[in-house]
Amino acid sequence: MSQSETPSLYASRVPVFPRRVDGFFRRMKWWIMIVTLGIYYLTPWIRWDRGPDLPNQAVLLDLANRRFYFFWIEIWPHEFYFVAGLLVMAGLGLFLFTSALGRVWCGYTCPQTVWTDLFILTERWIDGDRNARVRLWKAPWSLKKARLRLTKYVVWALIGLATGGAWVFYFADAPTLLVDLVTGQAHPVAYTTMAILTFTTVFMGGIAREQVCIYACPWPRIQAAMMDEDTITIGYRDWRGEPRGKHRKAEGSDNLGDCIDCNACVNVCPMGIDIRDGQQLECITCGLCIDACDDVMAKIGKPRGLIDYFALQDEAAERAGAPPTQIWRHIFRPRTIVYTSLWSLVGVALVVALFVRPELELTVAAVRNPTYVTLSDGTVRNAYEVRLRNKHGDERPFRITLTGDPALRVTLEGTPYEAVSVPAQEMVLQRVYVTAPPGSDPAEGARTEFRFWVTDMTNGERAHQDTHFVGRGED
Ligand code: SF4
Ligand code: SF4
Repeated sequence: MSQSETPSLYASRVPVFPRRVDGFFRRMKWWIMIVTLGIYYLTPWIRWDRGPDLPNQAVLLDLANRRFYFFWIEIWPHEFYFVAGLLVMAGLGLFLFTSALGRVWCGYTCPQTVWTDLFILTERWIDGDRNARVRLWKAPWSLKKARLRLTKYVVWALIGLATGGAWVFYFADAPTLLVDLVTGQAHPVAYTTMAILTFTTVFMGGIAREQVCIYACPWPRIQAAMMDEDTITIGYRDWRGEPRGKHRKAEGSDNLGDCIDCNACVNVCPMGIDIRDGQQLECITCGLCIDACDDVMAKIGKPRGLIDYFALQDEAAERAGAPPTQIWRHIFRPRTIVYTSLWSLVGVALVVALFVRPELELTVAAVRNPTYVTLSDGTVRNAYEVRLRNKHGDERPFRITLTGDPALRVTLEGTPYEAVSVPAQEMVLQRVYVTAPPGSDPAEGARTEFRFWVTDMTNGERAHQDTHFVGRGED
């Protein structure tokens, strides 16, 4: 073959113009879209009274003060294990749903799917349904086409702006930030973030659409490892539909299957594929082809389910005439039960950790340079850096004491009192001295174990940490 005859390995993208469809899965997707987008756009505006000195936003990632607020829950940086636990639960949840129901995440709740649905919806409102959009795409540029294109991109840009705007509201007090944004007073990072998210939302949801799922997303490749013959996925019952044919009343049509080759399932597919060709990586299992085909079956008086959710394991039995197996028999199997158990274990552990975590914490670090100091009267003194963390919404006095050897005494640097006041939601570093009188066991010995106590003088809550005192015997 000469070089001029070498086939090109590049193929331009053929735009996909999904047709409007109605049915059970389409309605479910509308509801999921309303709920998920509603949660995303409205959550930063939910107010939550935390008392004075604390933000009244229910969900807030306060980067400046390194806190994450989620309604009544407040996560400090040292409690990042909660976030790690939630990520582990999200991962296990994805494994569970994928092994049980295939790409149900992709088809219904993935942000890429939800926003693409929204962009297609607005495109349909502006340009019309599938045929009108195909005609417009093929038509040469005219005033009408320019007007429609401009309208569409302005609406898409507004959706992108709202999306980027909602995102930055999660990182600051939303009403204050909104005023700052409008008056030009907001931090440049806020404007930059919004600009980037506006662009990426329009590009991924409006322009790239199915290409993100097919070429950019790693999930379709990973999920293949999680699916097996029991996984419920969408397929075409070719043993019922084939041989397909359009002319139901034509001579010889008695031998035809139920598929009338109307292409309704192909025309509604947001990925632009034909599910009758078999399982494909592109299929996000959104169920729209089921709705389209069920509608056709109803019109021609055939039972629904020519395209349907089923397990590949059932194919052979159904082909032989057996009725479909109940779906729950495929869902409840050892693999999904193991995922559910692990998911529940992590969930229960997080909930328990959430409820037993103290509202007051201390950490103690001994100052060992020098290890100890001998005062003029022979008293031996050790120094400690004590960090006191007050997670309450008001200022609290914390008293520091110790238990162990009765000869040991505690004093706080910079105050004659035993207590230190810690502001709301703050951590205070207090230098503490522990002394042992001359001739006492701790003073003359090498190492004496004792326990630091901190007591919240408002409610009596206590925390402790063990450490040791170093005496002259250490030398
Ligand atoms: S919608 Fe149903 S009948 Fe029409 S082409 Fe698809 S599978 Fe065949
Ligand atoms: S083939 Fe059906 S389920 Fe798969 S993406 Fe297309 S419409 Fe959705």
